[in-house]
Amino acid sequence: MALPGTFGHHLSMRIVVLSDIHANLTALDAVLADAGAVDRVWQLGDIVGYGPEPDAVVERLREVGAIGVRGNHDAAACGGSEIDWFNPEARRAMEWTRRAISPETVEWLSSLPSRTVAGACDLVHGSYRDPLWEYVTSKAVALANLDVLADGTRIGLHGHTHMPIAFVEDAAGLATIRGRAGASLELEGRRALVNPGSVGQPRDGDPTSSYLIWEPEADRVTWHRVAYDVAGVQRQMRDAGLPTALAARLSVGL
Ligand code: ZN
Repeated sequence: MALPGTFGHHLSMRIVVLSDIHANLTALDAVLADAGAVDRVWQLGDIVGYGPEPDAVVERLREVGAIGVRGNHDAAACGGSEIDWFNPEARRAMEWTRRAISPETVEWLSSLPSRTVAGACDLVHGSYRDPLWEYVTSKAVALANLDVLADGTRIGLHGHTHMPIAFVEDAAGLATIRGRAGASLELEGRRALVNPGSVGQPRDGDPTSSYLIWEPEADRVTWHRVAYDVAGVQRQMRDAGLPTALAARLSVGL
């Protein structure tokens, strides 16, 4: 019996995957509006740090029922010694964040695991060898991490580098795919590490927010970009006394 197309449509899930929001509520709201109706919200850490609205970002993630992991900035915000590894500007912003956030935000951030499995995906901030700190920036590092994905998973969703990119198995070994706006990657059962890029502080030379849509039934990821009010966020950062260089970099996405 043929099912109506609309019924079939409702059976395939659309999951929005967010990373490195960095207390940028304006960017997060632009992304959620752009993503439209989704079945799940997953996030890959660095929810806070750098940006002006840490409490409001956590509140929004709780409202939409986001699941996910903590990043090095989240751990530092909760009082962790991770702050000792920050550069001077990141450290100043983290000291501001620690003063600004509520006990409820600290409690929620503290409750996040450093790694979690959801379906075929293994979610982490940095890497599977080093959840908070390792940057996956080369095929060699990607390959080593693919080999330590959790049992039963084959897709590693991770952030930390703020770069939309994927490392996917192919005939030659591992291919590097740039996550350009609107680009889809058909996984076809292959293993891959996939980075959605950053919502709140892009670093690939494009100042618009980057995010990913994961469709498990189609086995497809698609990167998206959306503009947000950068100048408004820069004003908030200036008013809060956050480092001016951190505000300036949002204009250029570097
Ligand atoms: Zn980050």
